[in-house]
Amino acid sequence: MAFARRSPSDADPIYWDGALETQSRADWDGLKLALLQSHLRHAHAGSPYYRASFAAAGVHPDQVKSLDDIRRFPFIDKTVVRDRQLAVPPFGDLCAVPERDIVYISASSGSTGVPTASPFTAGDFDDWIDYEARQFWSSGLRPTDRYCHSLNFSLFVGGPCVLGAQKLGALSIHAGTVPSEKLLAILSQFQATAIWTTPSYAWYLGETAIKEGLDIGRDLAIRRIFVAGEPGGSIPETRNRIEALWGASVYDYYGLSDIFGSCAGMCEEKHGLHWAEDHILVEVLDTRTGEAVAEGERGELVLTTLKKTARPMIRFRTGDIVSFTAEPCACGRTSIRMQGVHGRLDDMLIIKGVNLFPSDVEAVVRKDHDLTGEYRLVVERIDHLDHVTIEIERVHGFNGTDEELARRFGHHLKAVTGVGAQVKVLAADSLPRATHKAKRVLDRRSGVWS
Ligand SMILES: [Zn+2]
Repeated sequence: MAFARRSPSDADPIYWDGALETQSRADWDGLKLALLQSHLRHAHAGSPYYRASFAAAGVHPDQVKSLDDIRRFPFIDKTVVRDRQLAVPPFGDLCAVPERDIVYISASSGSTGVPTASPFTAGDFDDWIDYEARQFWSSGLRPTDRYCHSLNFSLFVGGPCVLGAQKLGALSIHAGTVPSEKLLAILSQFQATAIWTTPSYAWYLGETAIKEGLDIGRDLAIRRIFVAGEPGGSIPETRNRIEALWGASVYDYYGLSDIFGSCAGMCEEKHGLHWAEDHILVEVLDTRTGEAVAEGERGELVLTTLKKTARPMIRFRTGDIVSFTAEPCACGRTSIRMQGVHGRLDDMLIIKGVNLFPSDVEAVVRKDHDLTGEYRLVVERIDHLDHVTIEIERVHGFNGTDEELARRFGHHLKAVTGVGAQVKVLAADSLPRATHKAKRVLDRRSGVWS
């Protein structure tokens, strides 16, 4: 099967690949089914692990007649990937091609200790970069832009995403990870119009620019900020405040080291993240029953690659809690949209029986302009019950009392999340600032077995 790869000169003013991006939902499903059938056959033929696990589950790629048939196949997760890599070094027997066909690997740092490698063939790498270009195009990046990439070329999968901007025709400035003052100097010198970073760092960098005496509107030319790595980019209150700080548009992206640097991203409408449906099949499953949830409901994101030949990922449990919509988007693209990552299963707190994600708290914090926007959840176990205290900061020059601020915040939080929490108001700049991913939960519980 041949897949079109576009160049900027082929792209129309709105779409990178209009025929693909605006096809009907029925055509998407037909395309995905054809890709799934051939990808499962490839995994079965090339990977000893999948051949054995499919046989143990009593399933075979030839039995797949509809997209729902994927649900008969066994899951994998980070532990499987790591264990198979240790058993059959260096890439594990989920790989379905010989090593001579592998041209690139990314690896995740792995909170579990052992970094897991994600191999790409030359074709996988080209597919990925073409997808990055398509996604950047949908977010309004054009050949006239100057795109500053402040991530390194390392084992981190975020590095090569810059090649998508370059393929699209934008001037690509490979700045790498440099101190904030140096990055601001680069943005100013080359009058960069776009940048990629985390939401926390976008906020921090904007505040640093002001502290350095820069006038963001006059001295810098940033019009677009692509963010990834934290939920903030899909929380409207957070996005609005970063946009106000920079006078720029913020687009949320979602990536996964085990698959692509980005697998979804916002178009200019910014209502959810258009998913790379021709590359990755999505399931959203109830974490208790394993059943598919209804459209719009929250569940665990489970992914199956459709083209990535080096190491197919079949029913990979991400641990990310998400929701999706298939409603048409005003941009004309017909792919399903992820409504942000609500949190990771690991981050979910259960307070008096109610699920609470830090991102839910963030939405409330960022709405109140008497607060700086920084926050932290401190979780403790008192008399066998979990209690959460939310630390927030009043802005400089706030005239009211801390009691009033705490009461108002607690009331809003209860209305939005159903969780009653202790609220502690701190002076501005009391909480630690993040330069990469923010740590929002301080867990003081001991002996927690759940
Ligand atoms: Zn759209």
